[in-house]
Amino acid sequence: MKFDLSTSVSAGLPFHTVASLKERLAWLTNLRWIAIISLIFCVPVADIMFQYKIGFVEITNIAVILIIINILYFFIARYFPFKNEYQELAFLELQILTDLLIISFVIHYSGGIGNPFYFLYIVQVILSGIIFPGKFLPYFNAIFAAILLTIWTILEHLVMVERYLLRNEPASLAIIVTSLLAFYITNFAGIYIINNFMSGYRSLKKIIDQKNVQLEKAIKDRSRTFRFAAHELKSPMIAIQSTLDVVKSLFSDDLRPEVKDMVFKAERRTSQVIDMIKEMIAVTQYNLGMEKPVIQKVDLDEWLWSNVSHHKEYANKKNIELIYNHPPFPVMIIIDTNGFEKVVSNLVSNALRYTLPGGKVIIEIFVSDFSYGFLVKDNGIGIPKEDMEKIFEEFYRSKNAREAEQIGTGLGLNLVKEIVEHYGGEISVTSELGKGSEFKVEFHIDEKHSYNSESEIPENSFSLQP
Ligand code: ADP
Repeated sequence: MKFDLSTSVSAGLPFHTVASLKERLAWLTNLRWIAIISLIFCVPVADIMFQYKIGFVEITNIAVILIIINILYFFIARYFPFKNEYQELAFLELQILTDLLIISFVIHYSGGIGNPFYFLYIVQVILSGIIFPGKFLPYFNAIFAAILLTIWTILEHLVMVERYLLRNEPASLAIIVTSLLAFYITNFAGIYIINNFMSGYRSLKKIIDQKNVQLEKAIKDRSRTFRFAAHELKSPMIAIQSTLDVVKSLFSDDLRPEVKDMVFKAERRTSQVIDMIKEMIAVTQYNLGMEKPVIQKVDLDEWLWSNVSHHKEYANKKNIELIYNHPPFPVMIIIDTNGFEKVVSNLVSNALRYTLPGGKVIIEIFVSDFSYGFLVKDNGIGIPKEDMEKIFEEFYRSKNAREAEQIGTGLGLNLVKEIVEHYGGEISVTSELGKGSEFKVEFHIDEKHSYNSESEIPENSFSLQP
């Protein structure tokens, strides 16, 4: 299972995450750049085309102030990381308030209530309704916007500040009152609707998050039960195996051939069941997070070969040719050797188990300009077309595999996929029924992360980091 801190639920604020707040900070910054560009373009257009009598110089100055503020905010967000979501929310509120103030000045210098763009306040109010949980800040911002517009309108109407007009005549009192009413209604209806919608959305998100936590707990509980059962089974099975071993080595000469055959078969099956139990224990151990990753820089060739060679004995016993093709140059990688040992072990043992005696299993590393990884190929029983996707699901075993190998858990490939994808890789399979299968574990080379320091890279080698 992949856990990503940036998308996890924060303890205090159910809706917010560091990532979602960062996204909203970016919205505000981008909106401000759009506003700056619009101001810079609109001012000469309004001047030349419409000959408005508005404060062009003042509006240009505001555009410059906005540029400075936006750069400042950008640097604060980038170089002074916030310690928690509350600090980040405070920073967002500061931005909303300054934006509302700046809008109020722009509206004043561009015609006051006579300029229909005074509805721009509502954009900020709606944004704050989306960003902030609860009612306080969204309504506070809506009231702040209404107060700003009202104060400027009163000051302009009473000519206590210089008036900038879009039209030749200042707006009549009736128009002013109607416009203010229209603004209040839209402003408060807007924040009411968005706040209701967002609180519904947040409650739903909270329920989903809680269910997710419950689901994860249920999966862990299941793994624990599974693990307990596997542990309980292991000791008696090992005892049976030892007894059969003793019978085989001490009394095999005294046994009738058909009894001897049965003892040998029973011993083989027991050892398969023990392998299965060990796999169940390994899988549940990983799912319960009991296995810590061991991140190491290794020579992929050396490391892979040493893992593949553990399977030589079984391959010989089953009379399968186990071929390992060394790459022509060293490939240095940084991986979780603990996790990937399971990946290699599962893929190679599957290839050997699902290949008939006399067959071949080939393992090789590949490196291209865009990706690298390794292949495990066999000329075994193959996988039916309709099962190609299903084999990565827990407990799924295809019919031909069950016939060829009665013992199996259907857990190995699921774990392999989980580990590979956890580290950003991909696992794919191509297969033809009766002809064989090819499993490919692939990592895409990300320019940003591919190379370590120059000095660390041996000549003629790759240094890759999944
Ligand atoms: P198990 O091998 O214990 O059944 P896995 O999860 O490792 O469980 O594999 C799931 C299924 O995928 C297998 O039961 C089999 O149907 C199919 N499979 C995996 N590897 C191979 C292979 N190399 N050749 C054919 N079938 C395979």
